[in-house]
Amino acid sequence: MTATPRLRFAPSPTGYLHVGGARTALFNWLYARKTGGKFLLRVEDTDKARSTDESTRAIFEGLTWLGLDWDEEVVFQGANVERHQRDAFRLLDAGLAYRDFTTAEQLDQLRKDAEARGETFTFDRRLAELPPAELQARLDRGDPFTIRFRVPEGSTSWEDLVHGTITFPNKDIDDFIILRSDRTPIYNFAVVSDDIDMGITLVMRGDDHISNTPKQILLYRALGAALPTFAHLPMIHGMDGKKLSKRHGATAVGDYQHLGILPGAMRNFLALLGWSPGDDREVMDMPELIEAFTGEGLLKKASVFDLKKLEWMNGQHMMRLPLEELAAYLRPFVIDANLADAAQLDARHAWWLHLLDLLRVRARTVTDLVKQARPYWASDVEYEEAAVAKHWKDATAAAALLASARTALAAAPDWSPATTESVLRTVAEQAGVGAGKLFQPLRVALTGTGESPGMFDVLTVLGRDTTLRRLDAALARLAGPA
Ligand code: GLU
Repeated sequence: MTATPRLRFAPSPTGYLHVGGARTALFNWLYARKTGGKFLLRVEDTDKARSTDESTRAIFEGLTWLGLDWDEEVVFQGANVERHQRDAFRLLDAGLAYRDFTTAEQLDQLRKDAEARGETFTFDRRLAELPPAELQARLDRGDPFTIRFRVPEGSTSWEDLVHGTITFPNKDIDDFIILRSDRTPIYNFAVVSDDIDMGITLVMRGDDHISNTPKQILLYRALGAALPTFAHLPMIHGMDGKKLSKRHGATAVGDYQHLGILPGAMRNFLALLGWSPGDDREVMDMPELIEAFTGEGLLKKASVFDLKKLEWMNGQHMMRLPLEELAAYLRPFVIDANLADAAQLDARHAWWLHLLDLLRVRARTVTDLVKQARPYWASDVEYEEAAVAKHWKDATAAAALLASARTALAAAPDWSPATTESVLRTVAEQAGVGAGKLFQPLRVALTGTGESPGMFDVLTVLGRDTTLRRLDAALARLAGPA
């Protein structure tokens, strides 16, 4: 029987949840959900100076927004320092690590000397070999010491799930410190001690951690633990081929939330940064992603963060989302934008769903959608300069057409799209113009803009009273001083 896969996301809480971290979390989550494994969360807060509660909260919020739920309680690395210390002393007792009494000043000097000789500094373990009596005397005096790992000879290899075999000669790895003189663990040691304790079977993380991996593997072996599988995910680049950074725009997941990207679209977009389903599918919902996700689909080469693609993806997800869900997601955005309050949203629920369905075809983001919905909720139209300049250029002609349309619409026997269509087509014919020549000025009158859903849909959504009122306002404006 193979053990249940156990994966983890291990962010350092020194900032918000950025796109790269979210991608790592998502891949771990997808793998766990696909295999019936567990997805765990470990907050690597041992760097007390840089870790903040605010950042921890932001990371939890980002994950929650993305729908990446974790199994079991969150592990805080800082709470495990005693175990880290026990593990370090275990290695010391077994002779796999040693005490190093060299002071920081001495190390500094040794480093400078090496540099002066044009060499890279490596710690010579003979420096730490003290005669037993001196060792005892220093211990009795309480002299501070670090604990260094005794790197064995040979080389260290692993079969990376993404990169295949990777090998590092051990001679390139210094006898590194695992416990500082203040008894705090060094990063690589805390990670391994925790991953062993959490029973992690697959470590999937950014490939900036490749160089840590040989050290970590040596520690697993020294601690007598089975090795997990490692998977190092490729970097995410900006459109210019450089590592994604703030220079490229928003890098926090929360920014995209506020920009009006749906969590489902963000997930889908992130999933394709370094993974492929193996066919040309692009728009996928969560169950599809889970179903398609495999280690074999992980890609080696860096992926590109293309904002246009994210927006396109978001448009696709807005089209696919059940209207009720879309409306629920939009609710706080609508209220924040002062488009409508909760009571109005409830009172006009069916109408709002209908409008959303019409508008979502043209919108790329939730904020787009809210903006486009404004003319339908507002009591008065705000005319866009560009639309007025273009479609009401000849004010007299526009006014004449709109006046005829007003009369005809006021007299329409009912307000069905079929009726308003035939009424307006007759108006255009009688004026001797093509339908488009009537609809564009009319669109500006009714929505203030040059773009909207189909004319008859707009009329249906506005209703007869509002339509006539808006036509009156447009006629007043067209008659007014230029
Ligand atoms: N805390 C590390 C980071 O934020 C991740 C360590 C790991 O995944 O092993 O980059």
